[in-house]
Amino acid sequence: MERISRFGLVNAYLVPEDDGLTLVDTLIPRSARPVLAAAERIGAPIRRIALTHAHGDHVGSLDDLVAALPGVEVLISARDARLLARDMALDPGEPDTKLRGSYPGTKTRPTRELQPADRVGSLEVIATPGHTPGHVAFLDPRDRTLYCGDVFSTLGGVATSARVNPRFPLTGMATWHGPTVLGSARALRALDAARLAPGHGKVVEAPAAAMDAAIAKGAA
Ligand SMILES: [Zn+2]
Repeated sequence: MERISRFGLVNAYLVPEDDGLTLVDTLIPRSARPVLAAAERIGAPIRRIALTHAHGDHVGSLDDLVAALPGVEVLISARDARLLARDMALDPGEPDTKLRGSYPGTKTRPTRELQPADRVGSLEVIATPGHTPGHVAFLDPRDRTLYCGDVFSTLGGVATSARVNPRFPLTGMATWHGPTVLGSARALRALDAARLAPGHGKVVEAPAAAMDAAIAKGAA
């Protein structure tokens, strides 16, 4: 797996597969070039783009990448696909709290809408709602890397996005429903991942204790 970071603030990942690469998230706008350059260095084509959620700092270069990669698959949860199309209505039964963070939308529509327990190449799709209503994480069962999107960030210490981390407030401030994030954070902890690869911050090896502490802090 290769991490691509913009300004040390936001990450995308290139995950190797037999047929090429899966790109997890697309960074902020004007990031297509470093992503394509990283794939070129690896020497494999990007076959699919899997999005953890519809916030602008994760979908920002989607349209540019799709334009540069004819035939690429685009995958996002069915729920966040509506946010990608700028349909901001909440579903019946969802907590009636305000959607936060930026939802710029994209011209690109997904080629496939993800459901829990789907697969994206080798990656297992894990429903992790809360930061956004349809947030998903991806677990690579080959090496137990957990691409957790914005459920956890590691910038300014490992923290959940259930509440605002004063050392890196962005993810907490953009969270739709904190208690739901905490449930998702516990579900991810239960997977016993070998490494945590977040949307913001460095990859953390053997993250169990740090995830436990972050969950305890988020619930306090
Ligand atoms: Zn986010």
